[in-house]
Formats: sequence, structure tokens, C-alpha cells
Amino acid sequence: MTTTLQDCRAMDAQDPLRPLRDLFVVPQGVTYLDGNSLGVMPKSAAARVAQVATEEWAQGLIRSWNAAGWFTMPQRLGDKLAQLMGAKAGEVVVTDSTSINLYKVLSAALTMAAQDAPHRTVVVSERTNFPTDLYIAQGLCKANGFTLELVDDGALDAAMRPDVAVLMLTHVNYRTGAMHDMKAITAAAQGAGVLTIWDLAHSAGAVPVDLNGADADFAVGCGYKYLNGGPGAPAFVWVHPRHAGRFEQPLSGWWGHAAPFEFAPGYRPAEGISRYLCGTQPIISMAALECGLDAMLAAQPLGGMQALRAKSLALTDLFISLVEQRCAGHGIELVTPRGHAQRGSQVCLTRSEGAYAIVQALIARGVIGDYRAADVASGVQQEILRFGFTPLYIGFEDTWNAVEHLKQVLDTHEWQRAGFNQKHAVT
Ligand SMILES: *Cc1c(COP(=O)(O)O)cnc(C)c1O
Repeated sequence: MTTTLQDCRAMDAQDPLRPLRDLFVVPQGVTYLDGNSLGVMPKSAAARVAQVATEEWAQGLIRSWNAAGWFTMPQRLGDKLAQLMGAKAGEVVVTDSTSINLYKVLSAALTMAAQDAPHRTVVVSERTNFPTDLYIAQGLCKANGFTLELVDDGALDAAMRPDVAVLMLTHVNYRTGAMHDMKAITAAAQGAGVLTIWDLAHSAGAVPVDLNGADADFAVGCGYKYLNGGPGAPAFVWVHPRHAGRFEQPLSGWWGHAAPFEFAPGYRPAEGISRYLCGTQPIISMAALECGLDAMLAAQPLGGMQALRAKSLALTDLFISLVEQRCAGHGIELVTPRGHAQRGSQVCLTRSEGAYAIVQALIARGVIGDYRAADVASGVQQEILRFGFTPLYIGFEDTWNAVEHLKQVLDTHEWQRAGFNQKHAVT
């Protein structure tokens, strides 16, 4: 059955989540399909950031650590975020970057393995995992006498061995949009005595996550993607309560101390997840992220993550079918799995030629997606055209428009113009 522009408009008119779009600044003339890289700005963020600067900082000064609630922001934001991930209040802190939080939890996991199961000396991850995750793991494995083993996408049976200490995975793959079954993999790992670390960078705020339901061990994730926290927004960390009180992470700074303002010379870790804090937090960035979290939580009365997920799948299904109907014959192939249970909130396409230039031509038309390079040497064969669908603010007509522009860029060979082939530093 073919879908028309009128059908898409009717779907928007019937969409109960449609009013949420008004909570965000979506620039005129832009179809923004890159919320998986940098989310849009919540409308409340500009005023809130100004308030933090001009009132809480300029006037309140040092008093604001208490009076404006600055000091407890990592926990307060963590409690808000916990609701989106099947975690409980007190189990999450918002802090530092994803890379740094991964360093903390992988260190904790390696320390646990060294104490409990010294024969387990291997960390397993996927070859196509996000590079910073692999780099952090390379560094920590080298420093601690562990071996990092990279497997092909989904070949995780290899991880269920008596010499494996940790299975470190990103829940939704940034290059392909493929989503793992967190519960099944965690259960299999637990059965094999392997600890699990989940990177939720492309999951938090994008797909339903149930950390306690899956009985995972550790999780980290990103504040500036689907959570709309702004460029470089603080990230988050969750540790299962059965581990959180047991181990000290290596970045034992004063914010993770049980009583930082006693200024005692000896480190004494805070109870629970607060020990995963290190130093003073970027309060202005925290305030912006809180606006993003509040905008996400505004979806709770409308069905929350389940309703957002249903819309996300409807949008990505529509995008896939429109690309297949309208761009047929142009050599575009679908990379993201068709099965709903295996798909995150993005659709990735590939083409034997021109992927980068096609994305540039689309950006020039106001359809913002992004491009991810191949790395043939490490077995990553395909160049990717990546389109993220954030159901909070993307609609069905947007999806139609994106495909219409893609069709025109391909039909007219517009992407072959010289300017679209010049590479920029950030793709
Ligand atoms: C975006 C992303 C990161 C980002 O890490 P930073 O420390 O914020 O730069 C890490 N891991 C994954 C899987 C990501 O998608």
C-alpha cells in the first residue's frame, strides 16, 4: 500500500504526542534527523540557563550550592532519568562524560573480576562498538593485564566462556541502529559468570530500557543525544545496588566522598551510586540537561516511553517503506534490522558510492542526518547514511519530507556536485 503526503499529515493530526514538539526549538526549514548525535534545545533551556547565570551565579554566588540546589543536581537529575530506564531513585547519578563513566564502571568490573574470579582475564565487545568505548577498554585492559577480544556484531556466544570477565556492549549500535536483547544477553552472561556493562547512549530516552528487570550489572549513557541536554551535556552512570556499595571506582575524587565538606585527608566513599562522582560538576550544563529531562518526563502522562516507542517504530517503519517505494532503483540498501525487537530509533542506509555527498546534499536542503565512514581494515565494510528519529519532536510529515528530498537528490544526481564531496572535521 502506498502512503501519501496527505496520509502523513493525517497521522500527525491524530498523534497524541504531537503537542510535545512545542516544548522544543525546531528551526524553521529544518527536518532534524540527527537527534541521535545532538538533540534539539528544549524551549525552557535558554531561560533556565540565563537564570542560573544571572540569578544563581551572579547574585547567589557561593550560597547557591545550597540555596539553589546545585550540590544535589547529580542525584536529582539521576532520579529523574532513572524513571526512563527501569531504575529506582538513588540508583543513578548524572555526571562527567560517557567515556569517563565507562572508565569508572569497567574499572570496577575488572576489580571485581580480579578479586572474585582471577582466571577470568578477557573483556569481550563488538568490533563495531562506538570507538571511545573500545579505546577506553583498550587502555584499561592494557593497564590491568586483561585481553580485549572483539567479535563480529551479534556473535556473543563467544563471550559466554569461563575465561571472560566482562561483556561490554552498546545496547543500540550507533552505526547500524541494531538493538540487542538486553534481558536475554544479560541472563546468558550471568549464567556464564560474566559481568555486563551496557552503554545506553542510543537508548536512554529513545527506547524502553529496564535495567533492574534485565538484572544488568552496570550501565552508562549520554545526556546530549535523545535526552536533549545540549552540547557536551553531562552523562550518567547506573550500577546495580548489589555492586554499588561494594567497590570503589578509581576516580576517587572528593564529590564521591561520604562527607566532602569535612575535608578529611582520607578517602571514604559515599554510600551507593554517589561514590561514582569525582569532582565539581558543570552546573550550567546540568541545568540545561534538567530541562531536557523534564521535557522527556512531560511524555509520562501521555504513555511515556511505551508511547514514544510506538511512535518511533511507526516513524522508522514509514521511513523505510517510503525510501523503498520512492527511491527504488538508486542502489540504496537498508542496514538497520526490519524486526521491531532488533531496531533502535534510527534508520541507517548504505550505498556503494556517494554516501557522504548524499548526506551533504540533504543537509544543504535542510534535512539533517549524518554520515559514518567505513573502516574496511577492521571489517566494517559499509559507509552509512544515518537518520535518527526522535519521537518527541519528529512527525510523519517530516519523515515524508526527508524521503522526498532524498529522492530528488538521487533523481537529479545533485550529490555529485563538487562541493558535496568535501569532507569536514565533524561528520
Ligand atoms: C555518543 C556516544 C558516546 C560519547 O561519549 P562522550 O564521552 O560523550 O564523548 C560514547 N559511547 C557511545 C556508544 C556513544 O554513542
